[in-house]
Amino acid sequence: MAEVTAKRDILTAASPHAETPDIWADFRQIEVLTLELRQRYEHSLGKYSRFFIELENGRFLGTRCARCQRVYAPPRPLCPACLAVTTWQELAGTGTLITYAVQHFGSGANDDVNRLATPYVLAYVLLDGASTLFPHILRAAPENVRIGMRVRVAYSSGPVQHPLHLMYFVAQG
Ligand SMILES: [Zn+2]
Repeated sequence: MAEVTAKRDILTAASPHAETPDIWADFRQIEVLTLELRQRYEHSLGKYSRFFIELENGRFLGTRCARCQRVYAPPRPLCPACLAVTTWQELAGTGTLITYAVQHFGSGANDDVNRLATPYVLAYVLLDGASTLFPHILRAAPENVRIGMRVRVAYSSGPVQHPLHLMYFVAQG
């Protein structure tokens, strides 16, 4: 369902001959309509939906391949090594920082990222029990970040623009 609201303004364009009386002032009036469109929609993240739903519940899920036992975080619905269908597995949400980058410019990816003060830290974390690296924002002062430090998943309070920002990493303390 879409909702449209309109605002109407009348502007007068500036005369190119400011030194003489503007006999065309009325003619230069322009009506400007500002239309604002609000739209609600439902969106499925497909096989990944449960991962995001559980983030809202404060639980962190990966997926496990029953054939090769690899655990994927971020989750994968199919094991890329075996092409077997994976099953959900809850992880503790703790892990080790493998590498990171300090961002001095915002990416403009979405409002969740735009709200972050720069510099901020993008981290690759090996979650305990997982076989793959999980990239995300680590909310920590860059001078306190060290490769090998212990981190954990924290859950966002309040609305986010993208469900991936229902979580982030913090130093484990
Ligand atoms: Zn596998």
